[in-house]
Amino acid sequence: MEPRTITLHDCDFSTYISEEEIIARINILAEQINQDYAEKAPLFLAVLNGSFMFAADLMKRVAIPCEISFIRLSSYQDMQTTGHVKEVLGLKEEVQNRHVVVLEDIVDTGHTVKALLDQLNERGPASVEVATLLMKPESLQHPLHVKYVAQSIPNDFVVGYGLDYNGHGRNLRDIYKIVS
Ligand code: 5GP
Repeated sequence: MEPRTITLHDCDFSTYISEEEIIARINILAEQINQDYAEKAPLFLAVLNGSFMFAADLMKRVAIPCEISFIRLSSYQDMQTTGHVKEVLGLKEEVQNRHVVVLEDIVDTGHTVKALLDQLNERGPASVEVATLLMKPESLQHPLHVKYVAQSIPNDFVVGYGLDYNGHGRNLRDIYKIVS
């Protein structure tokens, strides 16, 4: 890949993971999912906004009976507890007794995925696993099991392929990392 530098708002980013590499990783994930869920008619839950491109490219390669739905997580200050609580929005599908696969753009501290898994598990699914495009293992603050990881990366801020910096960069085909 030709090294390129782009500017989004006030920050410079340089090419990091090419679209070709991303698709090669997604092919491997899709193959694993096709085997693991062959008889399970999984329900994929893609977390908006960041996972939209990953979800689309993964789903084109999932060749088993399945459903996909899109959810969001709100973040609000809960007066009863100490911190921010993330609530699942837009989940219309029945999760009870379903095999659920959460599709995430990136797992960083793991707060988001932990909150999501806690809420999904309250609804009595048959199983819940996470498939993420990117993961930053050095940042993880929860003992999470993330079964499907397309690519692990160091603790750098990245954009592109669905991921944004203040709203910009989601449309980029490749993944870029911040120039420090
Ligand atoms: P966590 O709750 O795991 O700390 O963070 C997950 C969310 O933080 C992701 O869904 C994403 O929105 C945001 N995030 C974490 N790291 C990055 C990054 O390197 N780039 C971008 N664009 N978003 C990130």
